[in-house]
Amino acid sequence: MALSSFADCRNSLLEGKTTCTEIVRQALDVIDEKNPSINAFTHVDADGVYQSAESLDQRIARGERLPLAGLVLGIKDVLSTSEWPVTCSSKILEGYRPPFEATSVARLRNAGALMVGRTNCDEFAMGSTTEHSAYGVTLNPHDQSFVAGGSSGGSAAAVAAGMCHAALGTDTGGSIRQPAAFCGVVGLKPTYGLVSRYGLVAFASSFDCVGPMAQNPRDARQILYYMMGNDPKDATSLDHSSLMTESQEDIPLDGLRVGLLSEYYGDGIQDEVTHYLDQTADHLQSHGAELKTIDMPHIAHGIAAYYILATAEASSNLSRYDGVKYGVRIQGDEHSLESMYTATRGYGFGFEVKRRIMLGTYVLSAGYYDAYYGKAQRVRSLIRNDFDEAWKKVDVMLTPVTPTAGARIGEWGNDPLQMYLSDAYTVTANLAGIPALSVPVGKAANGLPVGVQIIGPPLSESRLLSIGEKIMMLANTVSS
Ligand code: GLN
Repeated sequence: MALSSFADCRNSLLEGKTTCTEIVRQALDVIDEKNPSINAFTHVDADGVYQSAESLDQRIARGERLPLAGLVLGIKDVLSTSEWPVTCSSKILEGYRPPFEATSVARLRNAGALMVGRTNCDEFAMGSTTEHSAYGVTLNPHDQSFVAGGSSGGSAAAVAAGMCHAALGTDTGGSIRQPAAFCGVVGLKPTYGLVSRYGLVAFASSFDCVGPMAQNPRDARQILYYMMGNDPKDATSLDHSSLMTESQEDIPLDGLRVGLLSEYYGDGIQDEVTHYLDQTADHLQSHGAELKTIDMPHIAHGIAAYYILATAEASSNLSRYDGVKYGVRIQGDEHSLESMYTATRGYGFGFEVKRRIMLGTYVLSAGYYDAYYGKAQRVRSLIRNDFDEAWKKVDVMLTPVTPTAGARIGEWGNDPLQMYLSDAYTVTANLAGIPALSVPVGKAANGLPVGVQIIGPPLSESRLLSIGEKIMMLANTVSS
């Protein structure tokens, strides 16, 4: 059983054949059936979402136009909502109730979206499998011996299993695109600043982006359209709403210049991943696109730069969890402030988060700042320049999303480096602040979906979503 597509629900709603309440009932039935095994949602707000649905039904009956009415949405557990506790899948925020709502969530709610619950993720969005969540791992709906990916694995699995139409994810180094690829859904990381970060619990503030995960590019576009744009509460938010249309643009493939990397720099890239990438490139070429090989001399250093800069920012951002202001407090033995800090942070943070705080503190420490943090900042600029140079020659770049089709539960458990290396293709867009879209294009022999990534210049989301839909049509993976 799966929820009918958003397009179908929306049409039935507009024709008066269904109601928001009925759509919510369907979604909750699927959640009841599937969530106990998949563990995509860590909190389901049945009462709240029924209440919202009833009030939307009344407003629709009064003739109000609500563009997203009927859209059932999951929210990653790092975005503040006024309806339920937000924990970042961490013990340290157990029971924390935000006093405000994230701008992205509030805007979608105002447009009529129905927030059904919060989705699982790696603790503070640090990880690639959801195995670092205090609520346990989210399983891949295509094969439950595989992870859903991460960190937005709950959002991806919820959409893939038909428990909701779409979900919000966040992407600091690939956390929307990688789980989207593992679960066979569409995931868009927008240009840095296009969607307000207000109400998003910070991991690495100069990388973090909120974006849609959906069954198809059209739904992703609508979600982005209604949540993006300037927000006075986020000083880094952009005002480029005019660059985006609510319905798909027609971007002809004929003459489109598509860049391919001159060498694959990922570690252990699977043949099936390159097979689907080549197939996508062939499809585009046979429809008139021009393929060009592009040298990007610095992106091979993306992983090193990302894991220095992101951990540095994380170590600073996470210093606020000290047992005084938010969530859990553990008193400690010595009844001193310091023992309370140590006991609280020792209990509240999981292993991966502690590792990152230590790494980040180390690279920012006086003796090592220039050698690591300063150098990584310079590499970040060089990577940005590589992309700026590329945009002089091509309109978009086509790359893998991940080196492998999925990861088995426990596969990276004892090997954080292997997990970090699997982010090689996604972190570069975050380092450069540019948009990137992951779309499913087929299945590997193990039955797990394989995606490709399309990266574009700043604010090219609209084109990426149109090209993404064409790529999916050519691969026969698009749904309504
Ligand atoms: N997997 C990456 C990491 O662990 C990306 C995380 C993210 O985008 N939130 O840092």
